[in-house]
Amino acid sequence: LRRNAGEVEFHQAVEEVLESLGCVIAKHPDYMSRALIERLCEPERQIIFRVPWIDDKGRFRINRGFRVQFNSALGPYKGGLRFHPSVNVGIIKFLGFEQTFKNALTGLPIGGGKGGSDFNPRGRSDAEIMRFCQSFMTELYRHLGEYTDVPAGDIGCGAREIGYLFGQYKRLTNRYEAGVLTGKGLTYGGSRARTEATGYGATYFVDSMLRTKGTSFDGRRAVVSGSGNVAIYAIEKIHEFGGKVIACSDSSGFVVDDNGIDLDLLKETKLVRRERISAYAEAKGAGAVYSEKGSIWDVPCDVAIPSATQNELTGKDAKSLVDNGVIAVAEGANMPSTPDAIRLFHEAGILFGPAKAANAGGVATSALEMQQNASRDSWTFDETEARLAAIMRRIHDRCAETADEYGAPGNYALGANITGFVRVAEAMQALGVI
Ligand code: NDP
Repeated sequence: LRRNAGEVEFHQAVEEVLESLGCVIAKHPDYMSRALIERLCEPERQIIFRVPWIDDKGRFRINRGFRVQFNSALGPYKGGLRFHPSVNVGIIKFLGFEQTFKNALTGLPIGGGKGGSDFNPRGRSDAEIMRFCQSFMTELYRHLGEYTDVPAGDIGCGAREIGYLFGQYKRLTNRYEAGVLTGKGLTYGGSRARTEATGYGATYFVDSMLRTKGTSFDGRRAVVSGSGNVAIYAIEKIHEFGGKVIACSDSSGFVVDDNGIDLDLLKETKLVRRERISAYAEAKGAGAVYSEKGSIWDVPCDVAIPSATQNELTGKDAKSLVDNGVIAVAEGANMPSTPDAIRLFHEAGILFGPAKAANAGGVATSALEMQQNASRDSWTFDETEARLAAIMRRIHDRCAETADEYGAPGNYALGANITGFVRVAEAMQALGVI
């Protein structure tokens, strides 16, 4: 703790994983040898750098850039870039730590990393975003490579930003190294279904959990927080599966729409006009109620998919969901539920899909993008989505089987932590103390 003072989110993430490992260490005491746990908690490399850029008024701006290369035992570092004013080293470390186990869980050859900046893209012009991204990459490029470190997007870093980052990487290196970034546009090496992958993947994960209880999304009411990349495509897939999403949000407030969120209008509002969720409610008119008070988790629903940010769903929110009869919760965002909330979900016996498992569809499809880049191929949407669906069903089954094996049936959080840990631990032990 002293070594990572003040890194609250990092402590929270490490504690959550280590708490699950008692039973696996009892079975494999060799995992305690060669300081494996200490090495796992220490990033291989942390890069912190200055990002200077000039705004549209000619003012000089300085942001801080981060890349935490957490663990490369299974493959090149892989994980997104987050552009949000709340970003600091503790947040990036928690995300990189989580990413290591999530990537292991996919079964694909990717290590874990994460990065970003405290840059706030909100309200910035396109030219400002481009200048910022170019400056960010001007430092970061020397640490990247398709066999070294392959970033993707995250909060505040979507297809537009990845395009500017890739353009600058190409210019600096004089190499068309498509596999160095994922989440690229389709015209320059992107994969079909990558944009949709995290939201779709979380929905496949919930569907798999519901099947274990002999039920499905059909006719069920769902609440999805956020209205960004993950949320939008979770909503799309839930509607395709016959469910109805009745509420979503942004950091200012949430909208409840009893007739079901109008996906075309939501996409137009968020992706084309880049407006707030309040603008969706205004445009929708009758039936849509916007609120800046209270919690989205007070809206009664059968399925909840928190897809905005860390610690957005507290113990109080979890109680509200449980009291209102929720049957399944899956984390679309990274660590959106506080430890209290997770405890409550487990005590109440509801289906709970932890982030590492439920939102792994994004990074899994990024790995599929790397495969297509390496073989200079481009798969159809249906083919890529079929692979995504199969990966999500496999992740679900692995978590469930591991939970059974360790005497905690239905505890997907335990199953995910142990499955991810064992794969990374085996590789780290095989590679020696490095
Ligand atoms: P986006 O930037 O596309 O969307 C984020 C959404 O969450 C926005 O609606 C945003 O609202 C809201 N939000 C952000 N911060 C806060 C906050 N402090 N309080 C309330 N709402 C907030 O990001 P993504 O959809 O890509 O990512 C969402 C989550 O999913 C993150 O935790 C991310 O790490 C995780 N994730 C994303 C993956 C991906 O492929 N994109 C893969 C795996 C995980 P506002 O516009 O007001 O800021």
